Amino acid sequence: MYDPLHDTFAGQAEPYPDSYWAQHSGPAPAADGVLNRDLDVDVAIIGAGYTGLSTAYHLAVDHGVKAVVLEANQTAWGCSGRNAGFVLKSSGRKPYAQMQKQWGDAVMRGIYQEFCAGVDTVKDLISKGIDCEVQAPGYLRMAHKPAMVKVIADQAALQQQMFGYQVEVLSQQQVRQQYVDDQQSFGALRYADGFGVNPLKLAWGYQRLAREAGARIYTGSPVLSMRAVGGKQQLHTPQGIVTAKKVVIATNGYTAKNFHPGIQARTLPVLSQIIVTEPLTEAQLQACNFLTSHVVMDTRALKYYYRKLPDNRLLFGGRGAITGKDAENPYYAERLLQVLKLSFPALQQIRYQYKWAGWVCMALDDIPHIYQADERGDVLYSMGYCGSGLSFSVQAGKRLAERVMGLALPELPLYQTALPKFPLPALRRLGQWGYFHYGKWQDRWF
Ligand SMILES: Cc1cc2nc3c(=O)[nH]c(=O)nc-3n(C[C@H](O)[C@H](O)[C@H](O)COP(=O)(O)OP(=O)(O)OC[C@H]3O[C@@H](n4cnc5c(N)ncnc54)[C@H](O)[C@@H]3O)c2cc1C
Repeated sequence: MYDPLHDTFAGQAEPYPDSYWAQHSGPAPAADGVLNRDLDVDVAIIGAGYTGLSTAYHLAVDHGVKAVVLEANQTAWGCSGRNAGFVLKSSGRKPYAQMQKQWGDAVMRGIYQEFCAGVDTVKDLISKGIDCEVQAPGYLRMAHKPAMVKVIADQAALQQQMFGYQVEVLSQQQVRQQYVDDQQSFGALRYADGFGVNPLKLAWGYQRLAREAGARIYTGSPVLSMRAVGGKQQLHTPQGIVTAKKVVIATNGYTAKNFHPGIQARTLPVLSQIIVTEPLTEAQLQACNFLTSHVVMDTRALKYYYRKLPDNRLLFGGRGAITGKDAENPYYAERLLQVLKLSFPALQQIRYQYKWAGWVCMALDDIPHIYQADERGDVLYSMGYCGSGLSFSVQAGKRLAERVMGLALPELPLYQTALPKFPLPALRRLGQWGYFHYGKWQDRWF
């Protein structure tokens, strides 16, 4: 598999991975084909995932600018077509308690409001006619051991006090009797407003809306190199050169090695792995008391997450291999299946029918950054969602569009500072390996 830490090329017209989403979403909608001529445009966007598509949509609808999107492979070929489809009011990995300590109440509230705006924008765009199999709302954050019950109760108290966010604290018995009999749950927070979608159909819907608003989306058109020439940016693709006044890099965890010096060594791509089982029978659903279609994530440092899909399959995810070379190794899918069976011993015979992985984009300071990659501010980026970017990437696209237009963004660390550089970037994989071991130890003993 393509490995962004080692490969300098993200591929060209690569097919979608063999995921449940790619197999169950029908044919991909038409885009504008491969770019096969030179173009001179105001704004070029690199990458057609949620970030790139949202930027193109908001530039057209809010500012009347018809941007060109260049995608190396297919629309949403990266994370946006591979994720678990959890729409949550969050991004990054930084807990609110840490934000409060580091930046104070006003900044913490400002960030929360941006995350809320992300979910609102996703809902608003879906309401424009995107069929993406929205499930009944609800998000359970499961305590994976007794000690985490107090931790999540404290989180709920902070969120209620600071944001008026109504979060319900559920006992182990309430979770198992009213939602799902997960044997690894010791209680949960229940957020009434998270929900599950088909992420690929969502991205295709964004593409349709962006194109209807006047954006053009060229697939199979990788940007091989970019450079500043006479105050503009020149993007070289295999069959055409795009000259643009402004460029947005929206390649997130799929950004190839050495792609642009302004983002070099500022992210760590980490593989997240998903399996989807065969459909559960009525008897299996009853044996697990699987009453809910809430999206579920646990409190481990190395998180597991799952949801029941509309056709009664279980989607189950967690960390994957460390390198792209090892990504297809069935060991990682098998390991997830064994964890699934610990939660649901009644499913001893269950098998998975789909497995795939994708590169989430970690930031050193655990929050995404929307910032400039060059001195003049002609090249902008949004990256570092840390595996939780489905809703916030759409808000990021809206903010990127404003930034392209020269408008000021809110005074928040998300928008006012660059992604920090990783110290000793050549050792990022070693650091990840160390973190995985530390996480395993912490999840078991603390
Ligand atoms: C397994 C998995 C599960 C996840 N689950 C969730 C979830 O449930 N909820 C949630 O909030 N988040 C989740 N995420 C994270 C979420 O999917 C991402 O944060 C989000 O999709 C990022 O979107 P993006 O548009 O920034 O990047 P991407 O969707 O990754 O798009 C980047 C695109 O850039 C293209 N590209 C790269 N280089 C070039 C180039 N040189 N020229 C042209 N194009 C290029 C790539 O082909 C790719 O299509 C998950 C991620 C994974 C991998």
